[in-house]
Amino acid sequence: MNKIYLDNAATTAIRPEVVQEMVRVLQDNFGNASSSHSYGRAAKNELETSRKSIAKHMGCSAQEIIFTANATEASNWILRGAVTDLKVERIITSKIEHHATLYTVRFLESAYGIDVDYVNVLPNGTIDPTHLVTLLEDKSKKTLVSLMHVNNEIGTVLDIAKIGRICRQYTALFHSDTVQSVGKTEFNLHELEVDFMVASAHKFHGPKGIGFAYVKKGIVLQPMLYGGEQEKGLRAGTEAVHQVVGMAKALELSLVNLNAERTYITELKNYCISQLESHFSDIRINGCETFYNILNVLLPFSEEKTAMILFHLDMKGIAVSRGSACQSGSPRPSHVLAEMLTEDVLKKPSLRISFSHYNTKAEIDAFINELKGV
Ligand code: PLP
Repeated sequence: MNKIYLDNAATTAIRPEVVQEMVRVLQDNFGNASSSHSYGRAAKNELETSRKSIAKHMGCSAQEIIFTANATEASNWILRGAVTDLKVERIITSKIEHHATLYTVRFLESAYGIDVDYVNVLPNGTIDPTHLVTLLEDKSKKTLVSLMHVNNEIGTVLDIAKIGRICRQYTALFHSDTVQSVGKTEFNLHELEVDFMVASAHKFHGPKGIGFAYVKKGIVLQPMLYGGEQEKGLRAGTEAVHQVVGMAKALELSLVNLNAERTYITELKNYCISQLESHFSDIRINGCETFYNILNVLLPFSEEKTAMILFHLDMKGIAVSRGSACQSGSPRPSHVLAEMLTEDVLKKPSLRISFSHYNTKAEIDAFINELKGV
C-alpha cells in the first residue's frame, strides 16, 4: 500500500539532505560544544555557523537567535519572561492561537494576575485590527500582543508587518507564533516591528526536538533553564549540535527552493479544491485567502460519518487531520472553528488537508477517490 501524507501542518517529512548533515555531525563531530579542546571547538563551530545561517535567512543577527527544544518551549519562555522580567501586566491575544500560547497566557493570568484581552475574530477567521487598536488605546498597563502569523488549523494569514506597526505606535511588545510560516515564506525580521517570534524545525522538513526563539536585540529575558553557560546562559544544558545543524540545513533548503515549492504546492491545493468542489456539491472552505499549504473544509456529512471517513482513510494509508493534531481524537469542536463558525455550521465536521512539495496530483486523486467511496 502506498501511503499518502496530507498532514503537513502537523509535521513534515525530513529532507534526505538534512538527515545526511545530521549523520555527518553525529559521526564526525560528537564533541561537547562547551569543551575547550579541539572536539569542543569543532562542535561549537557547527553551532555558531548554524546560528549565523538561520539569522541570515530570517533577516536578523545571530545574537537574536536562541535555540530551544521546540516552539512551545520558546513561546512559554517568552510569554512568561515578558511578565516576570519585562513587567508586562496585560497580554492581548486571540482565541484562535495555538494552545502553546493560549494555555501559557491562561497560566500567567492565574499565577500572576495579569489582564488578558482577546481580539475579536472575524467570521472569515482573521483578526479584527480595528478591535486591536481599540484595545491598545488603553495604555494604562504595560502590554504585550501575542498573535500568530499563519493559523495552523485553517491557514488564515495575519499581516504581521501591519500588526507590528500598530503595536509600535501604541508602545506594546509584539510576539508572533510563526511556526507555520517559517521556512514557507520570506522573513526579514529587522524590517518587521516584531519583538519575539518562534519556530520548530519539524514544520519545515527538519528534525523534531529543536526550534528557536527570536528575541529582538536590547530585550533582556532571564534564563529559561539554569545550570550552564549554553545559549548565553539563557538555556543551560549540552547543546544537541546535530539537531541544530539539521534545523539550519532544513531552513536553508526550504528557502533555496521556496519559489518553486510554493508554486507547486499552491497548484496542488487549487487542484484539490477544484476536485473536492466538483465531487461534493455542498463542501465549504473554512477561512479566506488561506496560506498556500493549508486547506480546511467543512464536510457536508454528519459527525459520525466523518469519524468513519477518517478511519477509512487511515486504513487506506491516507493521513489527513480533523483539526490540529493536538486535538484530533477529541469529540469537542476545534477552539479555532468555534470562534469563527455559527452553532449550526459547527455541528458539521471539518477536515484539514495540508500539503508539501512531496505530494502529487495522483495522491490528491487517490484521496478524492477514497472520499467518494465512503
Ligand atoms: N504553534 C503552532 C501554530 C503550531 O502549529 C504548533 C504545532 O503544531 C506549535 C505552535 C507548537 O509546536 P511544537 O509542538 O513543535 O512546539
